[in-house]
Amino acid sequence: MTPNSLEDCRQADAQDPLRELRHQFDLPDGVIYLDGNSLGVLPRATAARVAKVVTQEWGQGLIRSWNTAGWFDSPRRAGDKIARLVGGNPSEVVATDSTSINLFKVLSAALNMAREDAPQRKTLVSERSNFPTDLYIAEALCRERGYTLKLVEPEAIAASLTTDVAVLMLTHVNYRTGAMHDMAAVTAAAHAAGILAVWDLAHSAGAVPVDLTGAQADFAVGCGYKYLNGGPGAPAFVWVAPRHAERFWQPLAGWWGHATPFTFNADYQPAPGITRYLCGTQPIISMAALECGLDTLLAVEPLGGMAALRAKSLALTDLFIELVETRCAGHGLTLATPRVHAQRGSQVCLARGAGAYAIVQALIARNVIGDFRAGDGGLHPDILRFGFTPLYIGFEDVWQAVEHLRQVLDSGEWQRPEFNQKHAVT
Ligand SMILES: *Cc1c(COP(=O)(O)O)cnc(C)c1O
Repeated sequence: MTPNSLEDCRQADAQDPLRELRHQFDLPDGVIYLDGNSLGVLPRATAARVAKVVTQEWGQGLIRSWNTAGWFDSPRRAGDKIARLVGGNPSEVVATDSTSINLFKVLSAALNMAREDAPQRKTLVSERSNFPTDLYIAEALCRERGYTLKLVEPEAIAASLTTDVAVLMLTHVNYRTGAMHDMAAVTAAAHAAGILAVWDLAHSAGAVPVDLTGAQADFAVGCGYKYLNGGPGAPAFVWVAPRHAERFWQPLAGWWGHATPFTFNADYQPAPGITRYLCGTQPIISMAALECGLDTLLAVEPLGGMAALRAKSLALTDLFIELVETRCAGHGLTLATPRVHAQRGSQVCLARGAGAYAIVQALIARNVIGDFRAGDGGLHPDILRFGFTPLYIGFEDVWQAVEHLRQVLDSGEWQRPEFNQKHAVT
């Protein structure tokens, strides 16, 4: 059933089994936040937890807190929580560093494996519309190692898995379009062609069910400040299939990845398993905030887990698409996100030839926060992007957001000069 009135949406909220989860967050009054795919909202527990880390653990405990407050174990403790969300097993994930840096580590390990197992393979394949940092990191590594980075459109991925390819690096859910790959099928196709599969889960961890183990993926990284609600600059995470984890040092072989960091040996002995993917001292205050964010997702486990979250996410995005298409028709918006559920992440993107930026600004002025992503003037148009985080977004929010969008378009309000001035961060 698709709710088709404000009253229906209120009914759907009243019957939503995940409704209570929104009370885990401090959302400003009157804000409809459709940007949890860029920066998740503040969990209610975070401020007190961070204050405790600062005033008690650091202020009073001082250096003793490395042991007594569990600081030293926090990358693995947070990693174990993340593993539950992405189909990893305990001790297979660490929370650490940024997504960009973790990608450097795993791509480097994957290229090391390829160099030993298939030295004639000299190409790394990715998607042209992948998030730029992923492409930049890949390009830098390819230059350094004498590999070629080959970028293709999504429909050309299968055909690009040729005998010269060592590694396929993809982002599971595309940041621009919200299109989702079939991780198991793509990984199987890569493996059948002798290619390693590296996945970026930045827009899928905590947003859609992920099964890294079931998909037999090789390496994965993901982001802590998007759907995991870890706060700005939160530590990211890294997962390596246990069959590969101990094959190589990772290139940023710092002391936190050493088997016995506190023996202070001059020579490096990598820690077993995923721990070797740590580099240096971790940002403990941010790590505490990340754990609060992760706890907001683990609260779904008794309520049906990621499957329940996914069902609500699809209901929200279906509703948004239907309302935009019926109530905002004739305004030049086209759906850039797949309609097929299995191909859709937790966001909806609307393409528009011109005015996309200004429309988003006009919505933000009305407290409906989405974002804008620039096109390339060619195949990829400018888009309005709306993320739907089922932990705190309800059906009435969707109704109201579309109603604001309709008013912004009908009135031409978005054409005002103040909405057409670009800020540094879009
Ligand atoms: C958000 C995002 C990142 C972010 O990388 P940082 O190192 O945290 O800046 C990387 N890759 C993808 C696909 C993303 O969506």
